[in-house]
Amino acid sequence: MIRVENLHRHFGGFHAVDGATLEIEKGSVTALVGPNGAGKTTLFNVIAGVLPPTSGKVFMEDEDITGLAPHVLFSKGLLRTFQVAHEFGSMTCRENLMMVPGGQSGETLWNTWFGRRRIAEEERALRALADQVLEFLTISHLADHPAGAISGGQKKLLELGRTMMVDARIVFLDEVGAGVNRTLLNTIADAILRLNKERGYTFCVIEHDMDFIARLCDPVIVMAEGKKLAQGTIDEIKADDQVIEAYLGT
Ligand code: ADP
Repeated sequence: MIRVENLHRHFGGFHAVDGATLEIEKGSVTALVGPNGAGKTTLFNVIAGVLPPTSGKVFMEDEDITGLAPHVLFSKGLLRTFQVAHEFGSMTCRENLMMVPGGQSGETLWNTWFGRRRIAEEERALRALADQVLEFLTISHLADHPAGAISGGQKKLLELGRTMMVDARIVFLDEVGAGVNRTLLNTIADAILRLNKERGYTFCVIEHDMDFIARLCDPVIVMAEGKKLAQGTIDEIKADDQVIEAYLGT
């Protein structure tokens, strides 16, 4: 699905990503792990068009997508989730979902004047889709709550929900497990598995929670010092001397 070839991203003289070469297989839930400072977030940001690379290439199903802007990648179904931005915190969870698909008729002056009925229909359809997504994620009861007032774990579910409002193909998730209680983490894991199995999403997740990875992810890619150090199942990775050394060295 994604192929990264000899990718570099330097900050001044510092090589955060330093010749990373790796593949994310279509249909997989791939974990990206590694010690702090290994370059995982920077790699995500370069793949998702948030940061330009210093050199190297990124391909999506053999199409060169290196350096494309996030909104162009979004239209190709490549999504990187972000926490719900502050400015949307006062909008309800449902409204946060409804605003994800771009290019709605309501956005042009022409349509504001001449297309009232169509706008109303689109809004109804979007609202119905948002409600389906909330139900899928088991958070229907939060539909009318301000997104800024829900818990950290519920926000993670809402982030996943935003990917369901469009036709996502590959989703990059950053630390879904951080600060989330076990019950919600299981709900998030269930949602990821269902999206993977039922809707064919490919996932790449940066994660530290080993139980979460063991349940969800295959393969696991280990990064250290800006490049891929190892790849395998969670059990293979745990038994890899190089991996153990990389973690202990920090
Ligand atoms: P990880 O996600 O694996 O913890 P990061 O990609 O966040 O690693 O960071 C890798 C290294 O790059 C870190 O040492 C970090 O300080 C550095 N870094 C990340 N972003 C910047 C930036 N914008 N400017 C300078 N250094 C950065």
